Amino acid sequence: IQINSSGTATEAEKLIGQVIILKNITQFRELDLAKTNFIATISHELKTPIASIKMSLKLLRDHRIGAVNQEQQKLMEHITEDSDRLLRITGELLNLAQVETGNIQLHYRQTQPAEIIHYATQAILFQAEQKQVKLETNLPNELPPVNCDLEKTAWVLVNFLSNAIRYSPDQARIIISAGYVTSASNRFVRFSVQDFGRGIDARYKDRIFDKFFQVPDADSIKGGTGLGLAISKEFITTQGGTIWVESELGEGSTFSFRLPVI
Ligand code: ADP
Repeated sequence: IQINSSGTATEAEKLIGQVIILKNITQFRELDLAKTNFIATISHELKTPIASIKMSLKLLRDHRIGAVNQEQQKLMEHITEDSDRLLRITGELLNLAQVETGNIQLHYRQTQPAEIIHYATQAILFQAEQKQVKLETNLPNELPPVNCDLEKTAWVLVNFLSNAIRYSPDQARIIISAGYVTSASNRFVRFSVQDFGRGIDARYKDRIFDKFFQVPDADSIKGGTGLGLAISKEFITTQGGTIWVESELGEGSTFSFRLPVI
């Protein structure tokens, strides 16, 4: 838009400006979709060779190919850890592609909050044991069921728990809780994971749910992808819920979501 001598654009100029912006947005969406499809294809293609590496490793580790010495054993442990990480990253990329193309398959059913928490804690036990974390559960007796997809909802809790473990010192305390929240017109169940780890700088709190965002420090970048919370947000909002974080730098964080009771 050209601004005239009085400093304002004419109506016609404004209209042309709007058309140009709309065209740009459409092109941007097309590009974004092409990128998402590319991510989906690549991550899908990567899954098979990684699974095959893991299978060969298992044969070696079970000593089916012959005995291995201590050094070889250590190397195999490293390869196992790295291939697990690769598998996690490709899984997250596939999840992301699913949510971005609106292809999330949700299997709704009335689910007890205790079942979701049990499902998630079982999935995280190994990681928790490795850092000797003390997992505490604080769950009231009488909570109504929520209408949700068990796997996707538990996935979000697992992601919260996995982060809480990664960003806390060894032997840390982590509390999983749930509670009933009512307002004049709505009823919800809230799920929270509280840690006493390093916390999050207020500057970054709004951005950690963005795709690929990681707090710029060595700990974050070393282990993760910056996708977990972005996918979590999509999983919760598509189920009609809300997700948020409260955190104090150096004190710890509480990640929560709530889902409607229907
Ligand atoms: P990542 O795979 O990097 O953990 P996430 O999307 O799960 O990706 O998290 C985004 C960023 O938010 C992380 O890189 C980390 O900097 C920060 N973060 C997430 N959870 C916590 C936590 N419990 N304590 C401190 N920082 C956290």
